[in-house]
Amino acid sequence: MKQNYINGAWVDGATSSANINPSNTADIIDHYAQADAQQAWLAIAAAAAAAPGWALSNIQLRADALDKIGTEIIARKEELGTLLSREEGKTRPEGIGEAARAGAIFKFFAQECLRLRGDKLPSVRPNLDIEITREPVGVVGIIAPWNFPIAIPAWKIAPALAYGNCVLIKPAELVPGSAWALAEIISRAGLPNGVFNLVMGRGSVVGQAFLNDRRVNAISFTGSVSTGAKVAQAAIGRMAKVQIEMGGKNPLIVLNDADLATAVNCAVQGSFFSTGQRCTASSRIIVEKNIYPAFVAAVKEKLAALTIGDALAAGVDIGPVVDQSQLDQDMEYIRIGRDEGATLAFGGERVACATPGFFLRPALFTDCSNDMRISREEIFGPVASVIPADSYEHALMLANDSEFGLSSGIVTTSLKHATHFKRHAQAGMVMVNVPTAGVDYHVPFGGSKGSSYGSREQGAYAAEFFTTVKTAYCGV
Ligand code: NAD
Repeated sequence: MKQNYINGAWVDGATSSANINPSNTADIIDHYAQADAQQAWLAIAAAAAAAPGWALSNIQLRADALDKIGTEIIARKEELGTLLSREEGKTRPEGIGEAARAGAIFKFFAQECLRLRGDKLPSVRPNLDIEITREPVGVVGIIAPWNFPIAIPAWKIAPALAYGNCVLIKPAELVPGSAWALAEIISRAGLPNGVFNLVMGRGSVVGQAFLNDRRVNAISFTGSVSTGAKVAQAAIGRMAKVQIEMGGKNPLIVLNDADLATAVNCAVQGSFFSTGQRCTASSRIIVEKNIYPAFVAAVKEKLAALTIGDALAAGVDIGPVVDQSQLDQDMEYIRIGRDEGATLAFGGERVACATPGFFLRPALFTDCSNDMRISREEIFGPVASVIPADSYEHALMLANDSEFGLSSGIVTTSLKHATHFKRHAQAGMVMVNVPTAGVDYHVPFGGSKGSSYGSREQGAYAAEFFTTVKTAYCGV
């Protein structure tokens, strides 16, 4: 049984929960502690007690600790990536890539500890100096989703610690294993007791405890729109700082002048890899009419060549859906798409494998309109709509016609259209001739419109959320 980590000690939860492999539901990875509200309260108390000391801690100490964590993650990326694939279902190479990314994030923020800048300005009044500095926010409550079980905890924990905050992390119920392994590495990095706490448990219990408690100064959440709205309401209700990353319905435009191989690669990779379970997945593929038939034919050919199966098996391109309830949701949307009159041009059926798992062949709908539910609502599975467009201007209008604004892509050889698109796409991230999913670890990540709320995550821009600004006046 894997325990929670609170105030520098490993402790049992009130109950425990089984972590099940979605490629093989007979495979129980381990049992993980589940905290109740009382245990969450103890973790919050520990973090609050440690916060004043950690806020003033030496930056070299923080840098060394984060660097040590990053080095160990990278050294163990194959083992950690394998665990990640086993519990979440993305393929093993994808899992290893995610683990390596988590390590790189810790190493990046190790360096950021040493680069925290302030300003010194002259005053408009005589004999006065002004200094502007950034200080830690205090205790940060982190609530993570299941689809990036190590990278998302890493990109929230590393900046929180780097800027001198204490951390409470609650991983998603479906994937406690990667977060536990990360916590175990962090527990050996020499941080004072209470600075870092892992509190596994239910969102409605542990997450809610973070939201309700005034000692938690800031909440960093990634997850669905419906939970995000609840989190925002609770945090804002008590004036806590809050950062919310939610879903997407990311468009990929393919223009007539696109290189066909690039377009097909962006569409297949962006829509279906990681089983389509990425907030930045291309779920609306908007294609100009002249290239439409050749594009659809080439995508179908590429999809037919993909291997669907056990995430840990060599040669598998697409692993299982994460669990039964996500599979039910995907199948329901496939039914909705058919009922709405879209053509199911490829896939959309269960795939039988040697082990009991949630295997689904990627579903490609053609002849879609942007008004269909399958083109408007986040499905969060390997399901994409292909929508015809009359022109670049029409395609751009369709791409922007969404309540979401996370990532928006275009495949074109036209500098004019690429340049115009970068400026006019309504999204936090814009991609030209690359998939909508897949980002660097040292630059800001986040969306606009209904996809995000609050300041950006990652890169140096993370300082905006994890610090607060102080302006000091000093008579001279
Ligand atoms: P979810 O909203 O179901 O859960 C997210 C987290 O919130 C979990 O840890 C859960 O336990 C917790 N939670 C649930 N109810 C809560 C409550 N009442 N109070 C506090 N916490 C609560 O999301 P999910 O299914 O884990 O993740 C999938 C979603 O995440 C998708 O919509 C996807 O687009 C989004 N996502 C967004 C980004 C991004 O950066 N924009 C990245 C990855 C995933």
